[in-house]
Amino acid sequence: MNFPADIFAGQRFAVLGLGRAGLPAARALVAMGATVTVWDDKPEARAAATDLTVAEPVPGGLDGLILSPGIPHRLPHAHPFAAAAIAAGVPILTDAELLFRAVRAAGSQARFVGITGTNGKSTTTALLAHVLTTAGIPNQAGANLGTAALALPLLGHDGVYVLEMSSYMLERLATLRFSAAAMLNLSADHLDRHGDMAGYAMAKSQIYARQTEADTAVIGTDDTLSREMANRLDLLPASVVRISQNDLPIATGPALPGAHNVQNIAAATALAQALGVADAAIAEAIHSYPGLPHRQEHVATIDGVAWINDSKATNADSTACALACYERIVWIAGGTAKAGGIDSLAGFAQHIVHALLIGRDAPILAATLRRQGVAFQDVGTLEAAVAIAARMAPGVAEVVLLSPACASWDQFTGFDQRGDRFRELVQTLAEPV
Ligand code: ADP
Repeated sequence: MNFPADIFAGQRFAVLGLGRAGLPAARALVAMGATVTVWDDKPEARAAATDLTVAEPVPGGLDGLILSPGIPHRLPHAHPFAAAAIAAGVPILTDAELLFRAVRAAGSQARFVGITGTNGKSTTTALLAHVLTTAGIPNQAGANLGTAALALPLLGHDGVYVLEMSSYMLERLATLRFSAAAMLNLSADHLDRHGDMAGYAMAKSQIYARQTEADTAVIGTDDTLSREMANRLDLLPASVVRISQNDLPIATGPALPGAHNVQNIAAATALAQALGVADAAIAEAIHSYPGLPHRQEHVATIDGVAWINDSKATNADSTACALACYERIVWIAGGTAKAGGIDSLAGFAQHIVHALLIGRDAPILAATLRRQGVAFQDVGTLEAAVAIAARMAPGVAEVVLLSPACASWDQFTGFDQRGDRFRELVQTLAEPV
């Protein structure tokens, strides 16, 4: 269904930041009757908006400034246009807030589910959407994952929007109320934008804002900060469901290995139950869940060795999840290292048969591995790593695992390009010669 063309008639918005979310948001708002101006500090981004009214945002008369998640409105420095909007009393909004308003203005009582946390957001979002589809419930998943919120179509009363919410988006809601919301876990991330862990936790807790006694608040309890948040939730009207990676899952599936995925399964299960989905459908869907690309994605098995693409693991915490899943690993890692490097992975040294290091910060990882007594080689590129792994792994390793524990910016445009290249290289190996 399309949104009526007049539901934002008479309202004025400015969109700042014309990226993956900004452009579709501006176009959707225009299609819904709003008066919209758009701006991006980069001339090439402005040039892509030929169908829109490009102008610097002026706060006077605005109903809202829609700010890209990547643009700060507080820390480390508010963008000057955001600062001007705040000074003039103009609300700073994210596109998901406008989606909610549009759905309600169109007369639909479709329910909204929000999912946040430091890790596991995308997996839980995609898994819940798969559960709903399996149960025959119309649904749309998006926001921080996949399709931008305002590019999602209108659902009827029986529909469910499953929105992956980053901490940046959660700070920019005004009326959106989640019928069911989940906060999975909290570890240090994005502190430049939130000041400190308390500020970050505060932003994450906004997922539960405005919930009523009719709603469900699902919360992970596997780290201290999440447990503290869980205790505070008991003061709110929503039904609180505590989940943990130590829960006995209702089902498991081949695309959901490891304890971290038990946390994701438990969260998706609790959310689905809150939405009224029967346990049998939930279990069936967990089993048939196909997985997301770049998150422990099984690419091929060649000569008895599984090749796994975990390119999304851009920090040591995520890589730990993958290293914990296998016993004898040829490990491909490296790129642009995060603060703390890979020191925290010492506990998995026994699982690594050999490490092949790539990218700019290979020497940083090498120094750690040398201390831990793990055999390694600095091979420079992903191409070299795959070729060497193909010769080395059969007979000595059960998996070749790309789980870089590093960002990819030194050699790739992002984790997805790095993972796509790995998949391509492995598929070439798998082809009969
Ligand atoms: P996000 O969308 O929050 O970045 P993803 O679902 O894309 O999370 O998973 C990213 C990586 O984080 C995965 O490859 C995995 O290594 C790790 N991960 C996934 N779920 C969890 C979890 N519940 N707890 C800790 N780490 C997780």
